[in-house]
Amino acid sequence: MSTIAFGSGPEESLEEVENPVNKLLRKERMPSIWCPGCGVGTTVNCFVRALEESHLDLDNVAVVSGIGCTGRVAGYIRLDSFHTTHGRPIPFATGLKLGNPDLKVVVYTGDGDLMAIGGNHFIHAARRNIDITVICVNNLTYGMTGGQVGPTTPRSAIAATAPYGAYEEPFNLPAVAESAGAVYVARWTVYHVRQLATAFKEALAKRGFSFVEVIAPCPTLYQRRNRLGDGLDALKYYKAKSIVKNGADTRTAEISFQSDIVVGKFVDRERPTVLDSMNKRLAESIGAGYVPYPLSEDDTMERPRMEEEDCGDH
Ligand code: SF4
Repeated sequence: MSTIAFGSGPEESLEEVENPVNKLLRKERMPSIWCPGCGVGTTVNCFVRALEESHLDLDNVAVVSGIGCTGRVAGYIRLDSFHTTHGRPIPFATGLKLGNPDLKVVVYTGDGDLMAIGGNHFIHAARRNIDITVICVNNLTYGMTGGQVGPTTPRSAIAATAPYGAYEEPFNLPAVAESAGAVYVARWTVYHVRQLATAFKEALAKRGFSFVEVIAPCPTLYQRRNRLGDGLDALKYYKAKSIVKNGADTRTAEISFQSDIVVGKFVDRERPTVLDSMNKRLAESIGAGYVPYPLSEDDTMERPRMEEEDCGDH
């Protein structure tokens, strides 16, 4: 993340090149808390590159995180960012989006935060088709709290709370997202940095609930306990075992212990967002007097405020 110098010999002038990711990072907070070989930082690099290529107005982009190692992303990104409570980034993001529909709102979260305590919020935000992007860094365990079994831990994997191996059925996140109603669903690993940046860009451009799962290593807890080596060994595993299947049936994308990993863009479809549905229903019910939300600038100017209409002399 630092300035890089290029040049082939001492007599050549060195050209200082700023890492393009730097300008969207809060460098004063570096070094990050992430362990060597952790996958979260790679996802941030891809995300920042996707943001740059998406040409979004960055003053209109907000990043919301919950709790956990991935939850720290909000603190490191130089955008309007919010580090919220455990499992609640989606409700927080929903409020931001409904309060200011012009914002591009991104939830940046981990598997424990999103699918355990936050699982209920996830399925309902997808069902309602809230217009937000959710990025889930899935390292198959609870990282920050010590490597316990999480909702995506594969059966037989060793964890702090499963010394003889996990035995619960894990969530298959793309299948959950699709069946709940997400309009965009993709999965890549941190080995697939270009595809990942493209998926982020596509998800950001999508109108509705878009979801990108990133399979990433937690060398300190998951890899170590399961004797799987370090972060580089995880990348070798992703390279060897990933199978690209764009459009795959998400029900076939489950991940078992050290199994093949189906990656790709699985879902890209259109559905009305929750605000589209609300405006349509209320326009049908109320008729011409209904002013769709969000109000246009003209509507805001023309319509008297509620206090002026209703309160009169009271
Ligand atoms: Fe990454 Fe695991 Fe370390 Fe957390 S504990 S920073 S997930 S390697």
